[in-house]
Amino acid sequence: MDRDLRLADHFLYTQHSLATFDNCPLKFKKRYLENLKWDSFPDEATRKSIEAGNNFHLLAYRYFMGIETAPVEALEKYPELSRWMESLMKRFNINPEFKYLPEYKLRMSSGEMKLEANFDLLIVKHDHIEIWDWKTHGGRGKVSAAAIGKKLRSSLQTMVYMYALKEQSRLVAGEEIKASNISMHYWQPEPAMTLAEIKYSDALHEHFGNIIREKIRNILNYDFNSFDKDMYSKHCRVCEFNWFCNNERVDFSAMQEDEDIMLELDWERAEEVY
Ligand code: SF4
Repeated sequence: MDRDLRLADHFLYTQHSLATFDNCPLKFKKRYLENLKWDSFPDEATRKSIEAGNNFHLLAYRYFMGIETAPVEALEKYPELSRWMESLMKRFNINPEFKYLPEYKLRMSSGEMKLEANFDLLIVKHDHIEIWDWKTHGGRGKVSAAAIGKKLRSSLQTMVYMYALKEQSRLVAGEEIKASNISMHYWQPEPAMTLAEIKYSDALHEHFGNIIREKIRNILNYDFNSFDKDMYSKHCRVCEFNWFCNNERVDFSAMQEDEDIMLELDWERAEEVY
């Protein structure tokens, strides 16, 4: 039955689901095949951090859509939002010659390569496409911005986003775009900086495609009866199913210190992350 769902046409892989399988196959099974969610609410600091980030995504969406009115309530509740938006507007002047596609969802299906990417922003500059991704949690912990940038450059998000966009570039730009004319940029509003910038190429496209394909094949062929919890126990304390598997609560302070998780909080709304 699990295998059937993994093979179903409507089952699309995201960077989250691929990363979840890497962290723990059982977690992948519970979340994506059985559609289970464990009630584990974040602590106050994590919740506020998630909400501020989500509001920033919403305001950025409105800015690029030309809807400039910001919800006053959000700005009052999260004072950092005004600074972040000022920073965004300073960095991105709207050029009427370009096409701006905020919060853009792209899907592709080609054999076993069934992918979904949710872009914070695509900018179509004639025969070039830029992918922009907002990071509001990175760069303020113990890990340096340079180290975060390095991690982002080889992340599953980079691979899935760039691969899916290249494959579907005609849909986005109206014409097929050369790999060398695609780039991806991770940007944080405070302190305002680009954390990572990746120039795509045909070689990278082949490389990323091979990695993603292998991950999907591993998932398709995985026998959940062979699951060995001990092999994945280091992820348990920050996993939503910790109570189910180990009768222990999620360690939110460990989550706050885990750069991978905090960066994921920016990738998509919290419900898909923990
Ligand atoms: S608690 Fe541990 S074993 Fe259970 S699903 Fe999460 S990571 Fe896997």
